[in-house]
Amino acid sequence: MRLSIIKRVINLCKKAFTKNKTQPKTTSLSPSVQILSRDQHPVSRQFISTNALKVLYRLNKGGYKAYLVGGGVRDILLGVTPKDFDIATNATPEQIKALFRNCRLIGRRFRLAHIVFGRDIIEVATFRGHHETASEKEKSCKKTSKQSEHGMLLRDNIYGSIEEDAERRDFTINALYYSATDFTVHDFAGGIKDIEQRKIRLIGDPETRYREDPVRMLRAIRFATKLDMNISKATDAPIKALAPLLENIPPARMFEEFLKLFLSGKALANYAMLREYGLFRYFFPVVDQALNNEQPSYISEFIELALKNTDDRINNDKRVTPAFLFAAILWYPLQQQVRQLREQTQLTPQDAFFGALSEIMGEQQRCIAIPKRFQAVMKDIWILQDKLVRREGKRAYKTFEHVKFRAGYDFLLLRAEIESRHEVNPLPELAKWWTDFQSNNHETQQQMIKSVANTGSGPRRSPRKRRKPRNKPTATNE
Ligand code: ATP
Ligand code: MG
Repeated sequence: MRLSIIKRVINLCKKAFTKNKTQPKTTSLSPSVQILSRDQHPVSRQFISTNALKVLYRLNKGGYKAYLVGGGVRDILLGVTPKDFDIATNATPEQIKALFRNCRLIGRRFRLAHIVFGRDIIEVATFRGHHETASEKEKSCKKTSKQSEHGMLLRDNIYGSIEEDAERRDFTINALYYSATDFTVHDFAGGIKDIEQRKIRLIGDPETRYREDPVRMLRAIRFATKLDMNISKATDAPIKALAPLLENIPPARMFEEFLKLFLSGKALANYAMLREYGLFRYFFPVVDQALNNEQPSYISEFIELALKNTDDRINNDKRVTPAFLFAAILWYPLQQQVRQLREQTQLTPQDAFFGALSEIMGEQQRCIAIPKRFQAVMKDIWILQDKLVRREGKRAYKTFEHVKFRAGYDFLLLRAEIESRHEVNPLPELAKWWTDFQSNNHETQQQMIKSVANTGSGPRRSPRKRRKPRNKPTATNE
């Protein structure tokens, strides 16, 4: 099915291009807009969500221009099911709000309207214009656009025509507009040809475009892996040199990008490319350092296994939590930090663990703002690694009843797989013990706990120190 759609697209595109051969092909836009009529492309309303169509129709009925744009059109052309549907219009956010009761205006850097249909959200953006051409009055009015000293767009709220909007988009394949009034597809930047040649190509001068928004470097990688495309030479060339610009991206936005890169079923491929382009360190500087020093030697193997595991779960429609991935990625640097603290201080193992945890998390939060609810789960997973070792008496049951037992146990399995390859710890035995424990009946479980106590395979507690009796106040020291 997918293959036949792709073949059809390629044929239709070829036809369209031979028709339009006289027109110059260029990435500087407007004069060369290619308009494909319904019989020249496979974008059909049956592939578009009812809610997105509703929004398009309502905007059109209200007298506004409205187009499906971005991933919605691109993915249909590629025979992929779109993740979401984005709409561009000449209606301003306020005008959109006036049309829809279920509308929420969001964003400061980039003001958008969200039309909410229960859990489904259709994003509607007003056509963006060129910030360079904004009048001085507009520039001085702080609501419009603003650039940082590095050329980064801090605000992008100047409105313009559809041609300008297309030019403000990131990649050629994302500047395709579908109209629900005459069912045409408008290609402003040669996106159809790039889809045909499977090329990720930035619109305009790549360096300027990356400086305006460094996240485009991450997007280039994400689309390359998601769509199985190649990044064009010119788009690829400046990435390594401009990578440090990612330091200026707010940690909250980095968290959003982390989710898109690592929780969409392509985590392993994205990780490899992020490392190759030197971008991974802007997500996890401490981990990147450990990877470069290969400390421990199996750290990358462990991260890759966790990422592959996540991809497999996503591709099999199983639930995943970013907390598990964060816990895995940061696990060995955390261990290293615990060791260092213990060597340098007289801290108990537990205090060293909590000290290291707060140091690692503090560093990490400067790059990615991990929400508190995920931090709590990460902590649980890490703490459980110790609890899973201590199984005597009632401890095994207590651990088993822990709300995050499953995540902790899955984490142990991953560690066991890697550490057994490197003969680090007797973890496979421990992992097997817990696997058996879960499937056994109460009686057998009791025996298992006893045998742990007998063999002393649980950690030996240091003999309890007797508490000194508190000095009772006497008449003399009163
Ligand atoms: P997907 O939704 O599958 O991740 P998408 O292309 O739809 O891919 P969105 O983040 O939903 O990506 O953005 C919608 C559209 O908005 C993009 O296709 C692109 O045209 C434009 N866009 C998004 N982010 C940027 C950006 N940083 N710079 C320029 N244009 C952007
Ligand atoms: Mg989208």
